Amino acid sequence: MLAEQQTEEQITKTVLKGLTLKELKDFFTVADEKRFRGEQVFHWLYGHMVENFDDMANVPKYLRRKLNAYCEIMTLSNLTSEMSPRTGTKKYIFQTQDNHKVEAVVIPDPKRTTLCISTQVGCPLDCQFCATGLMGYKRNLSPGEIFDQYLLAAKDYNPRSEITNIVYMGMGEPLLNFTNTLKSLQIFAEDKTKGISLRKITVSTAGIAPKIIELADSGLRVKIALSLHSCFEETRSKLMPINKKYSLTDNLEAVRYYAKQTGTRITFEYILLKDINDRQDDLNALIRLCKSLPCKLNVIPYNSIHHMNPKGFAAELRPTTKIKLDEFVNKLRENEVTVTVRYTQGEDIAAACGQLAYKLENPDDLL
Ligand code: SF4
Repeated sequence: MLAEQQTEEQITKTVLKGLTLKELKDFFTVADEKRFRGEQVFHWLYGHMVENFDDMANVPKYLRRKLNAYCEIMTLSNLTSEMSPRTGTKKYIFQTQDNHKVEAVVIPDPKRTTLCISTQVGCPLDCQFCATGLMGYKRNLSPGEIFDQYLLAAKDYNPRSEITNIVYMGMGEPLLNFTNTLKSLQIFAEDKTKGISLRKITVSTAGIAPKIIELADSGLRVKIALSLHSCFEETRSKLMPINKKYSLTDNLEAVRYYAKQTGTRITFEYILLKDINDRQDDLNALIRLCKSLPCKLNVIPYNSIHHMNPKGFAAELRPTTKIKLDEFVNKLRENEVTVTVRYTQGEDIAAACGQLAYKLENPDDLL
C-alpha cells in the first residue's frame, strides 16, 4: 500500500481517518511496517485529533513522509456554523470532499452536552414530519465522515463545554448505513479515542428490525432509540412509510431483544401530532407499551416544515396544542411512564433538524 514505485500522480490516497484500530494495524502490517504503528496513528487520529501526519511526533520521519505521499487524514471541512446566543445550541454544516453538506448540532443542557451527528447525505426514507426526507438520498457517509463530525465539533465546542453524549440522530438512517455506522462505533469503543464511552452514545432508528438485532449481537453496548410516533401500524405507516417494510410489531420484537441482550433501556421517540397520535386510544396504547419493557419516552413537540412546501399527508400535519401536550404527558406520568418532553433548542438559528443542510443542498427550492 505504501509502494515506493508508484508515482504520486498514479496514487489514489488511502484515507486513514475512519479505519478502526484493527484495520490500521492490518494496514501497517501489509505495508511491511511494524504493527504497533497502527496503534500510534490511531491514537493521533482519534485521541489527539491531529490534522496532518507531521504532527505525529512518535512516528519516524521516513514513515511520515510515506504517509504524506500515499495517505490522507481529513475527510470533512468545517463550512459554516451558527450558535444560538439564547441556548448555546450550535449547528455545524460540514462539507465532504465531493461537496455535499452534512449537518451536526451541539445541544448543551445543565447535565450534559449532546452532539447530534449524521450518517447519510440526505435520507432514503420519507418520514412525513422530517425536513431531511425532502432532500432525497445522496449517499452514505464513510466511518471517517461520521467520526469527523465529532472531532470537528469537539475541537470547536469543547473549550466552552465538553461534549459528553452523542446521538446518531442527524441526517439519514444509521441502520441503512450499517457497516459504516458500526465501524464509527468501534472507533468510539477504543480506549485511545477521545473520551466518549459507548454508554453515552445513542443510535436512533426509524425501525430497521433486522439491523436492530444485528446491532444487539455486535457486542457494542450503545443505547438505541426507536422513532415510534404511533402504536398503531396503519397510522405509523402513513407517518413513516418504512413501516410497511419493517412493521411496528417486528421492530418492537427487535427492541425487546436489544434490551435483553444489552441490558439497556430503550428510548421511544414520539412526535406529538394533532388528531393523529394524541387521542385517548393513542395514550392508552402508549401506556400499555411503555409498561411492557424497560424504556423511557421522549415526547417531542412537532416543528412545522410547512415553509418547505411538503405535499400530501405531510402537509396535513399540525402540532398538538401546548395544553393538550401537557395533559398527555401528565397522564403518562400518572401511569408511571418515564417521560421527557424534548423542546427544540436553537429555533432562533435554524428550524428543525436537517433544514439548514437542506437549504444549502437545495438553495433554489427555498427561494
Ligand atoms: S426522520 Fe430520520 S429516517 Fe426519517 S426521513 Fe428524517 S432523517 Fe430519514
